[in-house]
Amino acid sequence: ERPSLRHGSPDSRLVVLAGPTAVGKGTVAAYIRENYPNVHLSVSATTRTPRPGEVEGVSYFFVTDEQFDQMIEANELLEYATVHNAYRYGTPRGPVDAAIAAGNSVLLEIDLQGARAVRRAMPEARLVFLLPPTWDELVRRLIGRGTEDSAEQARRLQTAKLELAAQGEFDYRVVNHDVGEAAREVVDLMQIREATTS
Ligand code: 5GP
Repeated sequence: ERPSLRHGSPDSRLVVLAGPTAVGKGTVAAYIRENYPNVHLSVSATTRTPRPGEVEGVSYFFVTDEQFDQMIEANELLEYATVHNAYRYGTPRGPVDAAIAAGNSVLLEIDLQGARAVRRAMPEARLVFLLPPTWDELVRRLIGRGTEDSAEQARRLQTAKLELAAQGEFDYRVVNHDVGEAAREVVDLMQIREATTS
């Protein structure tokens, strides 16, 4: 059987936020976590190591390759993918199902492959593609955050070109000029209760 959103409240929505590297997906997601407590932000499992400042269970669940394999075998992941040909990332299924069942909206911040997998598994999901104002601005943001070496930056920009080419597959496109405005646009798509009561 495939998972369904129908047992949730009519207000609950699953929204997938995807977009190229360094476009600000993480920043927009963090802004939503801080400012819209009714939105459940999914915490992914990953095999990569934490960056400075990242917190276990908040940024990610940092797991070993063996633990990731076990999660796949136990069918605990709603979707998973190898990203940038390096590490594996996946969405734990349980918290998403629980939030939907409780009538809350859920935000998944995942890559293009993950977005496509969610589309197949849950056609009701709304897919949002976050765009940079320009390509040059995307390059500037990636280099500016300084978390990848130049080889990794080149690899991510290559992936970004492919991802930008797939934006037509998405239901909505949001340009990230300003984090607060982009977050508002994403949250509006979730029809959270505050936005729908009148
Ligand atoms: P980073 O290593 O910079 O935190 O994330 C790298 C990429 O992995 C980003 O494009 C991010 O959206 C993606 N990602 C994070 N969590 C997941 C997940 O659970 N599933 C998938 N498919 N991609 C993810």
